[in-house]
Amino acid sequence: MKADFPKAPLVLPAAEAEVMRVLRNNGQTTRPEISRVTGWSRAKTSQEVSSLVKKGILKDVGEEDSKGGRKPRLLRLNNHLGYVVGVDIGATSLEVALADVNGQILQRTAEPADVRDAPEVLLGRCRKIIQSLAEKEGISAQLILSIGIGVPGPVNFSRGVLVAPPLMPDWENFPIRLFFKEAFPSALVVVDNDVNIMALGEQRSGDAANVDHFLVIKIGTGIGCGIMVNGKIHRGSDGSAGDIGHICVDKSGPICRCGNRGCLEAMAAGPAIEESAILAAKEGKSEFLRERMEANGGKLTPEDVNMACREGDEAALEIIRTSGKMIGDVLAGLVNFFNPSHIFITGGIANFGNHLLIAIKRAVLRRSLPLATTNLSINFSATGPDAGVVGAIMLALEYLFVVEGSKPYYGSS
Ligand SMILES: [Zn+2]
Repeated sequence: MKADFPKAPLVLPAAEAEVMRVLRNNGQTTRPEISRVTGWSRAKTSQEVSSLVKKGILKDVGEEDSKGGRKPRLLRLNNHLGYVVGVDIGATSLEVALADVNGQILQRTAEPADVRDAPEVLLGRCRKIIQSLAEKEGISAQLILSIGIGVPGPVNFSRGVLVAPPLMPDWENFPIRLFFKEAFPSALVVVDNDVNIMALGEQRSGDAANVDHFLVIKIGTGIGCGIMVNGKIHRGSDGSAGDIGHICVDKSGPICRCGNRGCLEAMAAGPAIEESAILAAKEGKSEFLRERMEANGGKLTPEDVNMACREGDEAALEIIRTSGKMIGDVLAGLVNFFNPSHIFITGGIANFGNHLLIAIKRAVLRRSLPLATTNLSINFSATGPDAGVVGAIMLALEYLFVVEGSKPYYGSS
């Protein structure tokens, strides 16, 4: 007998798609919550939910805790629908996870990778990993409904391709979606940049659940920003929204990898911190950094600066404070412009602890309008190392259902 495999995206009437939207925010929902969010009557809610249950998309899964009265039944997606995959490609690592349609991770693997490898090589590895994870779980790869992929570079979201990616020039315009569709024809493939998927991960498993307007700032080799507006990622017209690393902070500053002068990234990210540390060591401002540099054969890493900070080294602390102030000055502009309620700081440099965070906060509070900072919280991300892969799964889920008759906004292929 020929198995009847589903094909994503799953097309739903507008009202049913609305139920899916409510459910996606928390991974589960109840009938009263759907009524509250949508403004529907109990009868209308009940009718739409019944239709989704009949189609095998939703499932009643038991009772929610309630303070007296009848307990509303919890609704979740029916796991029999199929599976989704999240792929998080970093500059030096690769993480792949297989999850059920409720976002529960079933199988996962992480391994070192070099993003400078050709896309066919690295993405070919991803395809094999997905197949082996499906085998381990004992499922057919044809049951994979959707694959979300995060990549460390600027992505044209509707086309699903990287555009002028500095870390991975060979990937320019490589048809990532097509490459995965060849191996998984029934799956929907969605590609986005690493900071956007982190913002999706933050929304699902971090402190950003139920937060409508927030920013995720990733500080590492570069500096990027994920923008959540009304609970949805804002990508802009072409996908480049949030590329704050190339906002100019000093017109006479050093040349950035984008070709312009004095970009935030060139002044305050990992490589700039390294350079400042080497200069401090050479100028005799820090004995600690000088010793580390000699031991490392003339080099220093951000981790060395971090260690120096922990030792209370004044030169290293000054480098971090300067970096934090520049980032904070740019964030102050974003806060005035966008008025988020939360900013979450993440990335390799964020591990530098409170000195960086305090410098960022000070600059933001000094330069933003009082109304914009009254309820503003600036903190480290609470999602930790899982943010990328969880976010990639959320990306895969986000586009699983589409409204009948609507144009697929993730592109045509
Ligand atoms: Zn630049």
